[in-house]
Amino acid sequence: MSTALIMTGLAALGAFVGLMGRMVLRCRGAADEIRALRERNDALVAENGRLLTMVEFDDLTAARSRRYLRELFARTHQDGSNAMIFVDLDEFKSVNDGFGHRAGDGFLRRIAEALHRECRETETLFRHGGDEFCIYLRAVALDEAARRAEAFVRVVHRTEVDLGGVKVRRTASAGVARIDAGQDMMGALYHADEALYAAKQVGGNCVRVTEGETLKTMIARRTGPRAEDLAEAIRREEITYYVQPIYDTRAGRAVGVEALMRWVRSDGDVLLPAKFIDMMTRSRQGGLLPPDSVSVDLAQSFCPAHEQLYCAFNISARFLERSVEDNMDFARTLTRGLDPSQVVLELVESTAIRNTERAREMLQQLRAHGLRIALDDFGTGFSNFERLQQFEVDIVKIDRRFVRGLGAGQADRGILRALHALSRDMGFSVIAEGVETAEELRALQEIGIYNAQGYLLGRPETVSYWQSRIAQPLSPGFCLRKTA
Ligand code: C2E
Ligand code: MG
Ligand code: MG
Repeated sequence: MSTALIMTGLAALGAFVGLMGRMVLRCRGAADEIRALRERNDALVAENGRLLTMVEFDDLTAARSRRYLRELFARTHQDGSNAMIFVDLDEFKSVNDGFGHRAGDGFLRRIAEALHRECRETETLFRHGGDEFCIYLRAVALDEAARRAEAFVRVVHRTEVDLGGVKVRRTASAGVARIDAGQDMMGALYHADEALYAAKQVGGNCVRVTEGETLKTMIARRTGPRAEDLAEAIRREEITYYVQPIYDTRAGRAVGVEALMRWVRSDGDVLLPAKFIDMMTRSRQGGLLPPDSVSVDLAQSFCPAHEQLYCAFNISARFLERSVEDNMDFARTLTRGLDPSQVVLELVESTAIRNTERAREMLQQLRAHGLRIALDDFGTGFSNFERLQQFEVDIVKIDRRFVRGLGAGQADRGILRALHALSRDMGFSVIAEGVETAEELRALQEIGIYNAQGYLLGRPETVSYWQSRIAQPLSPGFCLRKTA
């Protein structure tokens, strides 16, 4: 083989090796490029997911964001079959103040988790801000939505969070609103918030529902009188009491009256407490909302003339927060010259009580002085029977919601029967509130509940109106029919 041939062969081999090398390099470059592209893609997907999470979820809790809800809301046809629940923790500020904001955040996270777990497939939880959560419910009847709201409120109350060794729980309030056909998200939230406001107004730890007329009155309440007008009204003694009789329908006579606050304006307009009670709670330190002297005047003018009757006053959560000495002084003044059992204090069952132990002690002392304690609006909260265990009470007043429709087959008698049986065991008496029809009264009597209050038997009127009529026997038509 000639040298030239060898040289040519070697050159060709060199070129081939070079070509192969370049090809290998190019392939290697392509693989690197593919790997880099893949990595870039993965990073983009992750970033996209992170952004989506940021947009769709609340940054503190596991709940969805408002933005997500807005999109979901727009995607769902609003045909009047959906509902909105607004849940707000009671006294959450004290968690932040007492344990610091970081602990407060942790608390909210746990609450959100618990609420999220409670949600069904057709329910979406989102955080509205602060300690406010909303649940958007699809295809649900309003009464079912109200039951769901009670379940959410219960979940909050059950959730105990360990904050640096201290076990902390909070109650919650909820407002429920049906979302009308074609309504936008802001409207739905506004209505649920109105209902929440009503729940807070009666002390929280309960659920309120808005619908039609109720909603209108709630909005009117918000745009009601101003704080300055109220201060002036108190000064001019326009805040006064009307009274409504409470009857023993077996004996056919009145057993007492309930004092119901009214604002009688100089133009003759009479405002119901719903119009101004909230403002009054915020602006006054008092416990019975009208100045104590108004209550004393009523007890001292009404009770001596009617020794068989008691006078019942509604007390607010504030009353339970006053000092025991102040309240005992007040109780002594109220009952001066009377049999103290002629005075009853009504505590609303759903009132949020900050310090149960202290409240129990306060009520015990008042009872020891001879006053009687009633649990009002029984059945409106969710801790009905728990409250009965917590506090010794003399009277339980069943809320109108359990009375409405009785006798017409629209009401559930179970709770009334249970309460009646319990009242015998525990030794308290039962009064049915808001009795409006003869059928309701008859059904109550059949169960064995004879004490009743309501428009059927007598409306709230001025003290002078009832002073002269209260001793009259009840119309025989309303008394228990004796069975042969
Ligand atoms: P409440 O203590 O449960 O009083 C009963 C309410 O039911 C009264 O409303 C009364 O007028 C109304 N009512 C009575 N019979 C019937 C009936 O047959 N049908 C219907 N639909 N309603 C009936 P009112 O006077 O508007 O008072 C509302 C609430 O305001 C009271 O509920 C009570 O929680 C609060 N309140 C009233 N006065 C005072 C007060 O002096 N202090 C405090 N803290 N709260 C008060
Ligand atoms: Mg009452
Ligand atoms: Mg009541």
